Amino acid sequence: MRAVRASPHFRIEKLRPGIYAAIARTNGYGLCNAGIVDLGGRTVVFDSMLTPMAGADLARAAERCTGRKPDWVVNSHWHGDHIWGNSAFDGGRVVSSRKVREVVLRKSRNQFAECRREFPKELKSMDGSKSPIAPADRPRVRAWFRGVLESPNPPRIVPPEVTFDEQLVLEGSRRSLHLLTYGGGHSPSDVFGYLPDERILFAGDLAMVGLHPSVGDGWPDSWVRILRRMQGLRPQQVLPGHGPMGPGSTLRVVSRYLADLDRMAVRAVRQGLSIEEASQVRIPERYRSWRFAFMFPGNVARAYQLELARPKPPSGR
Ligand SMILES: [Zn+2]
Repeated sequence: MRAVRASPHFRIEKLRPGIYAAIARTNGYGLCNAGIVDLGGRTVVFDSMLTPMAGADLARAAERCTGRKPDWVVNSHWHGDHIWGNSAFDGGRVVSSRKVREVVLRKSRNQFAECRREFPKELKSMDGSKSPIAPADRPRVRAWFRGVLESPNPPRIVPPEVTFDEQLVLEGSRRSLHLLTYGGGHSPSDVFGYLPDERILFAGDLAMVGLHPSVGDGWPDSWVRILRRMQGLRPQQVLPGHGPMGPGSTLRVVSRYLADLDRMAVRAVRQGLSIEEASQVRIPERYRSWRFAFMFPGNVARAYQLELARPKPPSGR
């Protein structure tokens, strides 16, 4: 591959001729991964990253890789780290589900304002003795917070302007990218991209590799059902929302994590534990090497709350 201009925010990995992954760098302002696809006469970028700075580099990298400015920018879901780069894609149409558009319009500006309010305090306390963030995770979290604090304020929120309910296929002369949503699991609506000929999946935050998924805004049981359906597509390579490229089995690993969360929540409710007690449960051995362990208590708490709210079948007689 010809050298793509280096970006401090991500590195480019060539998956196939015309298909690239932009993997977020630890100290960059990208935070999430992105996909770049040359469809043949059309260029599409999957997720626009955390900041307009990273988004601008991503647009340039896509142009270098494919010879075209991006025609389309897909948003996998509404979370800021996947969409705040949208404003850097002048001329690129932002595509996602109708539901993602609705949530972006309703919540994105507030999410940004809240981050601007909270992040300075969190940056200060990050290195303190009571910090829940492990030293190994701090460079990444610090870059995340700084990226938001160094972004233009107020932000230019660019919502998806081309939307679909279940599926949209972006066609080119060389290949097509299938955009699908099976509903909400990690967020109220999660869109993923699939290249059927190459069996490459762009998972957004439905899948992570080597780090804890973020469940706080999600529903583990519908998420597991979504992952099961995705496995039916038989992907061979998975670009996760965060972390390095993974094999097709990545989806199974995330499913198991979510099922484990659910199991811990059911047990905690049955034992009559409070939410604080429930979220202090130890991380299962097989996830102990994963990054972003500070997410785990919140993930258990979310599963616990959903379990508490679940209607119970009538007991006895
Ligand atoms: Zn997310």
